[in-house]
Amino acid sequence: MTNREKIDWLAKGQLLSEEELAGLLRSKTEEDRLYAAGLARTLTDRYYGRKIYFRGLIEFTNYCKNNCYYCGIRAGNANVVRYRMKPEEIYACCDWGYRAGFRTFVLQGGEDPYFDDEKIVELVSTIRDRYPDCAITLSIGEKSKESYQRYFDAGANRYLLRHETACPEHYRKLHPPQLSLENRLRCLRDLKDIGYQTGCGMMVGSPYQTEENLAQDLLYIGEFRPEMVGIGPFIPHHDTCFRDCQAGTLEDTLFLLSLIRLIHPRVLLPATTALGTIVADGREQGILAGANVVMPNISPTDMRKNYLLYDNKIGTQDDAAESQRRLEESIAAIGYQVVSDRGDYCWEDKV
Ligand code: SAM
Repeated sequence: MTNREKIDWLAKGQLLSEEELAGLLRSKTEEDRLYAAGLARTLTDRYYGRKIYFRGLIEFTNYCKNNCYYCGIRAGNANVVRYRMKPEEIYACCDWGYRAGFRTFVLQGGEDPYFDDEKIVELVSTIRDRYPDCAITLSIGEKSKESYQRYFDAGANRYLLRHETACPEHYRKLHPPQLSLENRLRCLRDLKDIGYQTGCGMMVGSPYQTEENLAQDLLYIGEFRPEMVGIGPFIPHHDTCFRDCQAGTLEDTLFLLSLIRLIHPRVLLPATTALGTIVADGREQGILAGANVVMPNISPTDMRKNYLLYDNKIGTQDDAAESQRRLEESIAAIGYQVVSDRGDYCWEDKV
């Protein structure tokens, strides 16, 4: 099959093997990439129209007990200035975000044992009471099924937990031995069973990643059918052992966004901050490749500079209102409209 035929095949909802997908990723041309983006965008428009959903991202703690080798806030990085937001500071972000039109709040943090289940339940139920029309997304790592159930019962609706890579060997090269792909995937299954809109995802161009690994990621996404997929380029952080590794590329990330849309047309697909970090208009290009979600940072400015997962992260100095306005304008300039909406997963099929 030619690359074009493979892309058409995926767009028809047909499967490809790991070998065929890896071959496509290895040999794609700029023409193939643009062709896939066009088909992906048509599918996004079919399910979500030309609407872009904004999520208000609150990075509420940068303490983390884990030591993922790629991550700037890993436990072993002694150069990080650690912070935890107080509940009232978190609610103040939601207040501001609600007034600015956000209808989803994403609470993201390192795996911080200080925020035990009781504290998370308290945060979630307070936000649920105060903003009944908003979705609450958690992104706080690996927990037991009981903990996930407690947060869900308190009012959380969605959970983001990137699988990072679907290949156990590759997983071991990116993480210390205490962390396993098996447990990561167990968490994702538990989240889906409980009823969360669940998000997995991976970095593009992470150290040791092969085209076969990315093909395995695509097959996993096709099979697991998460409601959300978060992907972005790997970007090195100067205080990690991967400091001298190459960052993932714009073109590879855009192509993968399009392939994910073709494989799983209804998925909620963010154009991530990391994509906007490697190229100034990366998020807009992500939308044109099939993404339909953007997650502006609404954390207090003085804390943002300490939530550095990778070098040169954008938005760490920005005024939230001003950067939101600029982003809305640049999205309007490519023909899309930011809407004030929860932006839930589209459950219905549309032919
Ligand atoms: N602790 C939670 C977890 O494990 O899911 C959420 C926070 S974690 C820092 C969020 C995501 O950041 C990770 O899943 C990873 O894919 C991404 N990330 C970390 N370091 C990165 C880097 N150097 N470049 C790009 N993305 C990175």
